[in-house]
Amino acid sequence: MESENNIDRSLMTTILSNMMEGVVAVDTDGRVLFINQALADLFEFDPAQAKGKHLLEVVRQNQLNVLLQNVLQDQKIRTDEVRAFNPDEHIFEAIAVPLIEKGEKVGALMVLHDVTRLRRLEQVRRDFVANVSHELRTPLAAIKGFAETLHAGALKDPKFGMDFVAAIEKQTDNMTALVEDLLDLTAIESGHQNPLKENLDLASVLQEVVEGMAPVAKRKKINIDFKIPEGLPLVFADKKHVKQIFNNLLDNALKFNFEGGRVELRAGVEGPQVKVTVTDSGLGIPAQDIPRIFERFYRVDKARSRAMGGTGLGLSIVKHLVEANGGTVTVSSSAGQGSSFTVLLPYI
Ligand code: ADP
Repeated sequence: MESENNIDRSLMTTILSNMMEGVVAVDTDGRVLFINQALADLFEFDPAQAKGKHLLEVVRQNQLNVLLQNVLQDQKIRTDEVRAFNPDEHIFEAIAVPLIEKGEKVGALMVLHDVTRLRRLEQVRRDFVANVSHELRTPLAAIKGFAETLHAGALKDPKFGMDFVAAIEKQTDNMTALVEDLLDLTAIESGHQNPLKENLDLASVLQEVVEGMAPVAKRKKINIDFKIPEGLPLVFADKKHVKQIFNNLLDNALKFNFEGGRVELRAGVEGPQVKVTVTDSGLGIPAQDIPRIFERFYRVDKARSRAMGGTGLGLSIVKHLVEANGGTVTVSSSAGQGSSFTVLLPYI
C-alpha cells in the first residue's frame, strides 16, 4: 500500500514537473510545498532552493502572492491576469485553488498559464479593426463633403461640379483598393488559399508585370530598366502570387519616385534561390521607419501615400506572399537616396 502511494506520488511529481504551465503549491502559511520547473524557468530561480520559503522570496511578483493569500484566507477559487518582466513582458492567467486533504485545509495551489501570444494576437486584431475603420472614415468623410458641396450649389456650376465628381470618384477608387487589399490579406492569412506552386520562368512573369506597369511609368517619365539574365533556374512558386509581389514592389518604386527617376529590375542566382531586386531612385525610407514598413497600414507619410491611392497594405501583402512561397523579402534604403527591395525565392 505504502509503495503504491509512493508510485502515485512520484508519478504526480513527474507530471507536474513536466507541465508547460507553471505550478506552485503552498502550505497554510504561504510557504512553498512544491514548485515545478516551468515556474522556476519563468522566474529564474532554482526549484530545489524554493521549498519552505515564502512565495514572495522566490517569485517576486506581489500580485501572485496576494492571489494565493486571498485563497488561503477564504478558500475560494480565484483567477487573475498577471504581467511579469523577465526581461521581456509575459502575460499569465493565474488560477489559484484551495488545497484540501481529508477535509482539512492544507494550503493552496496556483497554476500559471502563459497567454502572452494570445493577448498580443487580440491586440493586433483590435488595432486592425481600429485601423480599417479609420482608413475608411477618411475617404467617406471626403465623399460626404464633396456631395454636400454639390448639393449646396456646385452641381449647377459645370466646372466645379465636374471637379467634385472626379474627387468623389478618386476617393471611391481608394476605398475599393483598400477593400481589395483587405480581402487579399484575409485570404492569404486565413491559410485557405494555399499557393498553387508550379515551375515558373521568372523572366516572362516579370516581363508581364513590367508591361502592365508601363502606362504608370510613362506618365511619370520613368524608364523601367529590366535586365534578367538568360538561363535563370525555374522558381517553384504561385504565378499569381509572384505577379502580385512584383506588381506591388514596382508600383511603390514608381509611386515614391520623382518624375524622370529610375527603376531597375535585376535577377540572379544566390545559393538555392533566385534573387530579384527592385531598385528605385526615389524618396527612400528613413532608417527609423525601415523596421516597420512591412506592417499593415504603416506608412512613412500617410497623407502622401493616400494621395497616391496607397492603402498601406501593399508591403504586408508582399511579405505574406513571399513567405507563403518559401522566400524572404528585405529592404535597404536611405532617405532621399532611393530604395532597393530584394526578394529571394527558392528554385528546385
Ligand atoms: P502604400 O499603399 O502606402 O504604398 P505599402 O505597404 O506598399 O503601402 O508601403 C508602406 C510604406 O512604405 C509606404 O507608404 C511608403 O512610406 C514606404 N515605401 C514603400 N515602398 C517604398 C519605396 N520604394 N520608396 C519609398 N518608400 C516606400
